[in-house]
Amino acid sequence: MLTLTDIQPQKDEIYLDNNATTPVLPQAAAAASHAMQLCYGNPSSSHITGIKAKYILETTRNLVRKVIGAPSGEITFTSGATEGIQTAIISALNATRGQAATADKPVLLYGATEHKAVPETLKHWNNMLNIGAEVLAIPVDERGILDLDFIRRHVADALIICTMAANNETGVFQDLKALESVIRQGNDKVLWMVDCVQALGKFSLDIANTTIDYAPFSGHKLYAPKGIGILYVREGAPYTPFIAGGGQESGLRSGTENLPGIAAIQAILSLLDDEEDDTFKSHEVLLGYRKQLSDTLCEAFPDIVFNHDFACSLPTTLNFSVKGLSSKDIMDLFDAAHIRVSSGSACSSKVSGSFVLEAMGKPKWQSDSAIRMSFGPATTQQEIDDACEAIKKAVKALHHSCLILSDTQDNSEFAVDGLQQWVYDQQCTWCYVDKAAGECIVLDMIPELVNKFQTLVKCQNYQVNGVLETHRHDGQLLSSEIVRELISGQMLSSDYDHLGWNKHNTELTLQNGQQVSAINIGTKVLAKLPLPGHTENSVCYLLGTAKEGRLEAQDIEFAFVGDTLQIGGLGRVDLPESSAEKMYESLRNLAAVIADDTLICPSHDYQQLFSTCLAMEKRTNRLLSDVLAGEINAGEFKQQKALVDTKLPPADHHNYCGSISTSSADIGHITPDKLKQFMADNPGATIVDVREPHEFDAYPEECVSGKALVNIPLSQLTNFVNRHRQEKSSSTFVCICRSGNRSDAAARTLSRYGFNKVYHVPGGFALLS
Ligand code: PLP
Repeated sequence: MLTLTDIQPQKDEIYLDNNATTPVLPQAAAAASHAMQLCYGNPSSSHITGIKAKYILETTRNLVRKVIGAPSGEITFTSGATEGIQTAIISALNATRGQAATADKPVLLYGATEHKAVPETLKHWNNMLNIGAEVLAIPVDERGILDLDFIRRHVADALIICTMAANNETGVFQDLKALESVIRQGNDKVLWMVDCVQALGKFSLDIANTTIDYAPFSGHKLYAPKGIGILYVREGAPYTPFIAGGGQESGLRSGTENLPGIAAIQAILSLLDDEEDDTFKSHEVLLGYRKQLSDTLCEAFPDIVFNHDFACSLPTTLNFSVKGLSSKDIMDLFDAAHIRVSSGSACSSKVSGSFVLEAMGKPKWQSDSAIRMSFGPATTQQEIDDACEAIKKAVKALHHSCLILSDTQDNSEFAVDGLQQWVYDQQCTWCYVDKAAGECIVLDMIPELVNKFQTLVKCQNYQVNGVLETHRHDGQLLSSEIVRELISGQMLSSDYDHLGWNKHNTELTLQNGQQVSAINIGTKVLAKLPLPGHTENSVCYLLGTAKEGRLEAQDIEFAFVGDTLQIGGLGRVDLPESSAEKMYESLRNLAAVIADDTLICPSHDYQQLFSTCLAMEKRTNRLLSDVLAGEINAGEFKQQKALVDTKLPPADHHNYCGSISTSSADIGHITPDKLKQFMADNPGATIVDVREPHEFDAYPEECVSGKALVNIPLSQLTNFVNRHRQEKSSSTFVCICRSGNRSDAAARTLSRYGFNKVYHVPGGFALLS
């Protein structure tokens, strides 16, 4: 195990994710440490050590009052804003229980862009306390500003209204005065909570001069440690303790106070309150920082769109999207370049947009591609200068990888030759490139990847020999047609059929004597094999090397099977356009023309398994092996497959196209602390960095444990398997990535394919550097 002090920030780290959490300022850390080591008393103890602790507690409370402008009302220390939100909502709902029972149709109102802590808490306690109110989201306009007319219409029936001072994803702030006037004109009794988490330290609140009833704050959003928060409660507003016990905080919140956290808050608020101190920057300075960052971003990404109106946003947050780049592309790039930002969407394989941007009515691509870059009110000019330099440098890697185009295009370093797999939301687009010939084909284009392909083709000036589909469902989005139009100048032919197949093709004979049509791609051929079953029009494309008019099974490298065969399953046949009998024949036909170890590339990858082959499928898929061995006939297959399909999720679900099964190959782990020794013991081992080329390029870690890294990105893993079949048992590979997720997936796949000396490093670069 690594020791705590082994875990250090990365060299040159640029932290631009302050809305998620801030670093602790040295003054706050010193204050917390002082409270822990020297003033460690319990504020409830009556001896002198306790009295000192109590003094820190009460002086901090007074400072909070001063900074947020609350001479009256209660200030309690909590564990964070989520607890403050619970307390406020429980207090309000508990007090309005009677009201709820008599009201016609009581509602609980909250802003549609509120942090999840708010709607989830409203729903939870509405149920737990049997309030029976309707929980209603207040819509926002395209700038993220709350719809005042909606509030006007509903506020009379509201038991509580929850709004936020500033949004955590976009920095959009609300006009609290205008909001207050609408709320109070419609209902002078309704309890009003304002989430002030992102506002503290960024604008003055003067809270007691408003009719806000509850205001939660969080220490870790303003340079104090995690685990400390503040709740303001207006004088006379109903209150129910969320935590009962020893009666601390005048009985409002039991539990021994987090005095180190409270001391840290005191240090921060003292700096904020000190007009002579320049730790916290003026609004003008922060506006200057934002301008510098946004100018840099605009220069780096000509197709950038900012997702919020700067005029009504805090200067410290920039939320943007870049056409053609997913938020994962940018996040990964920046992270590799040691720049920390966050995205509203995208985990490893599933894509889910930002609900905040969706509520603002932004198009789906904008929400799916959103990046949040946030600095803090204590950020320095030097940090912003460094960030801008790092951004400029990182973006060059996107040019080299052909992910964005530039006027001074230098595409000579583009490294891809062979097969690439692009996965979006568990769907796969396969792209085959023959670099020497300057030709490529793309199969099963996913709408979200259209721009990526277009940019690649233009960047490398490829001739596109085919934009192909393996099948088409009724009413499906025609992204292939969009692509063909966008790159029409680079298409080999404009004469193709409904699946994009070039009508000017030649004939080839397959292993079983079957005649099929084929096109050339560089030195290889691509043959089209009809494969009806999942849909009537399903086909499979076979890529390999033809000899004297024949394409033998052992010369086929890849079979692009669409949805007919999946990793661990078969495509569903319960659709109106499906036929189980035809699928039965198609599977047997496929097995007659490809080899057991031909790499099968399906158009879905539900479990990061990348690709498969018949040998592996026959081992894990009984139904398929029975079909191929002739153990069952078409009628029996139909019956058994119908049973399998009933267990599939509905047709509109992610698993729309077929079944999946799990696979958990056992692979070796080398924990980061053991890597050095492992490399000393195995000097011939190759360390494989499975991050994408733009990440590798952005800040190559160059060597790990004295060994140079080899870049084999996940998108080229199937290509790698194909080219290194001979080394399965001779070579040792140690896979590594940022966190250990992708290296785990890569190692599992290599191991499935029979590479028997494969390891991965859990924790990856995050724990190594
Ligand atoms: N409200 C907003 C606007 C936030 O940004 C956050 C944290 O992301 C919270 C509430 C929850 O705060 P805490 O982490 O202190 O519970």
